Amino acid sequence: MEVDKNRKLAGTHLDRIKQAASKTFSQIKTVVNKAFKFDINHSQALKNRFSKKIVNKKRFLISCSSIALLAVIGIYIWVSGTAYAMKINDVEIGKVKNQKVAEAAIQTFKQKLQEQNKCEISFTSGITYTKSRASKKELLQGAELEEALKKSMKYSLQAFSIYVNGNPVATLKSKGIADAVLKEIQDIYLKTVDQTKLKEIGFAEKVEVKAEFTELGKIMEKEDTVSYLAKGTNEIKLHTIESGESFWSISKKYKMSLQELERANPGVDSEKIKIGQTLNLIMPKPLVSVKTVETVTAIENVPYEQKVELTDTMYKDETRVKVKGQYGEKEVVADVIRVNGLETGRTILSEKPLKDPKAEIIVKGTKALPPKKGTGTFSFPSRGSITSRFGLRWGRRHEGIDIGAPVGTPVRASDGGVVIWVGTDGGYGKLVKVDHGAGYISYYGHLSKYYVSVGQKVYKGQKIAAVGNTGRSTGPHLHFEIRKNGVPKNPLSYLK
Ligand SMILES: [Zn+2]
Repeated sequence: MEVDKNRKLAGTHLDRIKQAASKTFSQIKTVVNKAFKFDINHSQALKNRFSKKIVNKKRFLISCSSIALLAVIGIYIWVSGTAYAMKINDVEIGKVKNQKVAEAAIQTFKQKLQEQNKCEISFTSGITYTKSRASKKELLQGAELEEALKKSMKYSLQAFSIYVNGNPVATLKSKGIADAVLKEIQDIYLKTVDQTKLKEIGFAEKVEVKAEFTELGKIMEKEDTVSYLAKGTNEIKLHTIESGESFWSISKKYKMSLQELERANPGVDSEKIKIGQTLNLIMPKPLVSVKTVETVTAIENVPYEQKVELTDTMYKDETRVKVKGQYGEKEVVADVIRVNGLETGRTILSEKPLKDPKAEIIVKGTKALPPKKGTGTFSFPSRGSITSRFGLRWGRRHEGIDIGAPVGTPVRASDGGVVIWVGTDGGYGKLVKVDHGAGYISYYGHLSKYYVSVGQKVYKGQKIAAVGNTGRSTGPHLHFEIRKNGVPKNPLSYLK
């Protein structure tokens, strides 16, 4: 029962509150209507009273909000201060208290990077500051600022580039390393020159080392650079020598010239290669060329003069050395210039004659040549004595005569005619046959050299061959035959 009473009481209270609320609400509604619509149904007094109230309320509200706004601004001003929006490459990374703070942080970050990389660095990012406001909490500083810089700042490192004729060819971490690279390249070619005579060593091109900022990825290692500059490539192609191979067969196999293979393997003796040894197959195209100058002293030949004497005792087409020429000698001091080990020139510094040359004297014939056809008479084909005659000899027929003479003694055509045979023929050895016309053919056997060819016209007495010991022969001599219509005749019956 008590509970119900209480409920009833509570209900009554609620109702009352509801009623009051609706009354107040309608009052407010009226007030609002009065204030904004100027309801003419109400009396002037009422109207005046209410509008006065409204004006006061409005003023109060405006004042309140103004105060609140001022308070917010006040609080903001109290908690915030002037700040700068910092942009790296046009992207805002946050607000900093001032430029000084940012720059100090950049400086610290730069020093850390320089210590890490052990070289000078240079930032490549653009930084701008725009005046702004920020609360203390919003400000980027300390570790946060450093982290932001780390994320956004781009930088390059100070390195040293090698320039060849104005073109950069390699970038190294320090000047010391760049200089060491250049020295190592020179050392490769120092091995190819006589160092006791070395006057200077340098490069054929204009080579410079310049400091410049670059990206970390462009910096090369020392050993790679030496090989790259000396070979013009970092490509490696090797061949391992197998049984039976030679420099020549290997160069053929890889379509290189013998010289190219030799140049690709300086210091390798092509005559002394071993199975299992490796050869380089990449032809070097060096980016820098080492130029060396050696001062060399050498004994050189001095050429001799050639003097010609004329004689009418010899035919026009004949010459004879009367006095053999002799080279003179001189001592020459010269600067030998080599580029990558190959001589490109020499400068004579001094010359000292040691021995005079001796002129050569050549005798030249002036006598008109006889007609190159058979005259009908025969002459002795060579100097020397007859060692075997024509006819039966130890039961065998000898088809001609033998004239004993040292190897090399000139053999002359017994009469003019046309050469019809030059070549080896069984027991004759090296043989020449001359057709003189009218059925006559002469044979010259056991020769060592020929001076004529088939079809050539020769005159009587012309040097056609040299005495030898070829074919069936027991010592140097000329076997000479004269045949008429194919039948061997005794030459001694014809010789005059
Ligand atoms: Zn004979």
